[in-house]
Amino acid sequence: MDLNDVIKKLKVLKTRRVFVQFPEGLKNEKIQDIAKTLEKEGFDPVLCIEPTYGACDVKGDEAKRLQCDVILHIGHVDFGVKADIPVVYWEYFLDSDPLPILEKEFDKLNGYEKIGLVGSLQYINKLPEIKKYLEEKGKQVFIAEVEGVKYPGQILGCRLKAGKAIEDKVDAFLCVSAAKFYGLGLILNTSKPMLTLDVERKEITNIEHEKKRIQKIIAWNKSVFKDARRIGILTSWKKGQLVLPYSIKKYLEEKLGKEAYILAGDEITPEKIAGLKLDFLICTLCPRVGIDDSERYGIPMLNWDQIVKN
Ligand code: SF4
Repeated sequence: MDLNDVIKKLKVLKTRRVFVQFPEGLKNEKIQDIAKTLEKEGFDPVLCIEPTYGACDVKGDEAKRLQCDVILHIGHVDFGVKADIPVVYWEYFLDSDPLPILEKEFDKLNGYEKIGLVGSLQYINKLPEIKKYLEEKGKQVFIAEVEGVKYPGQILGCRLKAGKAIEDKVDAFLCVSAAKFYGLGLILNTSKPMLTLDVERKEITNIEHEKKRIQKIIAWNKSVFKDARRIGILTSWKKGQLVLPYSIKKYLEEKLGKEAYILAGDEITPEKIAGLKLDFLICTLCPRVGIDDSERYGIPMLNWDQIVKN
């Protein structure tokens, strides 16, 4: 889908004012160009400058308050978060070509014959040509189609089914994305090696060391939790992240004898909780905050499911 298709959809919905949610990477002239094109087509765009990291964050109430009649969600696909007004999702595939990087870095796949191919949404349309190249080089390639995920092989930071479905069949995963965020999510939940084809850094990297580093942090935080007294429960009211924290607080206080505080916000950051005296944080937000961002808070943190599994 391109901007022309988006415009057609907006016209079908008889849109007048459109609330635009978009990733931080588009917060430059590109989003201004999009806004100007929408204006020329007769729409009134409202650019939401709050960060939007995924389709978990659909700001229907905010859009309605600003009298918008449709949300345009750029860079994400629908995974079922509802709003009171229509939401048009625009995947926004990127043009960068990962194939030359694969050709240059191909030797890093030596020793792995069966490859599980996954990727982030922005490059998911490139997986078929990568599969073809790998097969021509003699590799066996697996790409999973799974229910609830729009594109074969697509993984999100919190939805890893397209990788886990083929874990038993492959020697290693190859994840096509920018940076290591997507590959890291999968490797922490499987036992197979992960090679990330990083389209921005233009290299293939084995991120096993990163998995070990995060596992050590998780193990340390689990050991610290036992003696932590004042616990902050991080809670977001984003529609696709919302977990009601009341039973967690009750459990912490009544079963474990801790002192617990529910800390709610839209996007939660270390700065927003600075000044509070807390020994430990429990994350009920995006699960990747509890994993990737825990060091930024300077307070030990675990996701709630990591505490429950302990
Ligand atoms: S919960 Fe986190 S990983 Fe999942 S879509 Fe939202 S921001 Fe992305």
